[in-house]
Amino acid sequence: MSKLLLFYFIVLSHIIIAQSNTTSTRVLSLMGSRFELVAIADVKSNRNKAIEAAIVEIERIENLISSWKPDSETSQINAQAGIEPVRISIELFNLIERTIKISDLTDGAFDISFNSLNPVWTFDGREMEAPDSTLIMASIGKINYKNILLDRHQQTVYLKEKGMKIGFGAIGKGYAANMAKRVMVERGIKSGLINAGGDLIAWGNQENGDPWKIGIADPVKEKEYIAWLSVSDMSVVTSGNYEKFVIIEGKKYGHIIDPKTGYPVEGIQSVSLVSPDAELSDALATSVFVLGVRKGLELVNRLKNVECLIVDDQNKIWTSDHLKLNYY
Ligand code: ADP
Ligand code: MG
Repeated sequence: MSKLLLFYFIVLSHIIIAQSNTTSTRVLSLMGSRFELVAIADVKSNRNKAIEAAIVEIERIENLISSWKPDSETSQINAQAGIEPVRISIELFNLIERTIKISDLTDGAFDISFNSLNPVWTFDGREMEAPDSTLIMASIGKINYKNILLDRHQQTVYLKEKGMKIGFGAIGKGYAANMAKRVMVERGIKSGLINAGGDLIAWGNQENGDPWKIGIADPVKEKEYIAWLSVSDMSVVTSGNYEKFVIIEGKKYGHIIDPKTGYPVEGIQSVSLVSPDAELSDALATSVFVLGVRKGLELVNRLKNVECLIVDDQNKIWTSDHLKLNYY
């Protein structure tokens, strides 16, 4: 089996997977994205059972955090904005609390109440008219994570303003990847990989004993890679503006919103964030996008065990102080 080198490349439709006697892979659509789950273990039925359990877990999380599904806890919170606090599961409570910590850390660049803008922007790749600026002004008045009021004792969350809405688009896949990994590890999978639509976490080693090789996608040239990283027990999350966007007067706008302006952020094409925790990587990748190159790098360089690579809109590559890249 040692002749089989496993190569995994993020974000992309383009993944070369070598199947073998000790590896099982499932590719499927979950949370509106392409997921891949890879398990390495000797017994095939153990690998497959672990992957199935991880899929059930991801679906459970989607039902909890989706702001599209009317029955989710998140939708109930949004429906009661400005009306009354909603009692929620401790799991969602803790997740919201962690998002607020990220908002504090990023000075509000990351803010799950960005969703108050919904449906002003629809990032479906189509051409649209510029949204009415008075509508945007009215909506950004409702974006403020400080108006997400948590009461741990009552286990409730209350969105203070009517029309406020939260959404987990920038952290949910990372959280799901962490939890799916946990489920697989609990079922004895010592080496594996979850790719949650470009949010990737890898643990253990490849089948041949080498660390995982994760390619960093080139946001400009499709199916090409800027560099690769050699990792185990690490997450690599790429946030790009090339997948979900709108076109206004011929110009492309990506789906990450600056909470202070209500408009999509400009200046960066992609951010790849590396840290041991996929949820943190996911949230920080989005945050760096909003903060921009200078402030984003400043933040990442201040944090332990967190590195990043940024491609700006001039195709210039910026990296944090201790990122160890390999080139082809
Ligand atoms: P991807 O889904 O491509 O991995 P991200 O992780 O950056 O990209 O998530 C982008 C999503 O995050 C958007 O579609 C939206 O749901 C949400 N979002 C946009 N702007 C913000 C923001 N400033 N803070 C928190 N969430 C945001
Ligand atoms: Mg993100």
